[in-house]
Amino acid sequence: MLPDDKLSMDSNMAKFELPPLPYPYNALEPQISEETMHFHHDKHHKAYVDKLNELIEGTEYEKMTLEEIVQKSEGPVFNNAAQVWNHTFFFETLSPNPKQRPQGALAEAIDRDFGSLDQLAAQLKQAGVGQFGSGWAWLVKDSFGKLTVKATPNAVNPLKEGEKAILTIDVWEHAYYIDYRNRRPDFLSAAWERIDWNIVEKRYNGQ
Ligand code: MN
Repeated sequence: MLPDDKLSMDSNMAKFELPPLPYPYNALEPQISEETMHFHHDKHHKAYVDKLNELIEGTEYEKMTLEEIVQKSEGPVFNNAAQVWNHTFFFETLSPNPKQRPQGALAEAIDRDFGSLDQLAAQLKQAGVGQFGSGWAWLVKDSFGKLTVKATPNAVNPLKEGEKAILTIDVWEHAYYIDYRNRRPDFLSAAWERIDWNIVEKRYNGQ
């Protein structure tokens, strides 16, 4: 690369980069199609990254981590920062070869707080279906280790409220409309099958 190119690149260097998908675009089929993953990652997730970089240029937020921006901003900066965080977290929750069931401390906490894994699935689905308009369904761990399911509107996430998210499903229409049209409940059931409990366990155990 020529020095001049390097300089011009540096002066326009975007602070945040779109993380690559952690698996091939078609790897979540048949539950989530390759086409959906291209739109969801390459268009929607990327748009939030690009917009965030545009909005924070020359502001105090340029010196902050993504998590700090989520916690300290409001309005358009918050919306885009939180959506960058939420999508990275969501895509990392899913896997082509998911661990099918939680074990250990997380499995015990799920039985304690929901009765069973099936009842957690039902509550998470209900939260996602019941979220009016765009938003997210979450499994959240509080500071005592207790688990709760919650839904949030638009870009809002548990991080904003000082809570630790360990699992999420995106229920914005762009997450499912190509594959499921208006059938959000079917998408939630399908996405559940792709949740990698190995990753959720690591988050629960604080790794
Ligand atoms: Mn989305």
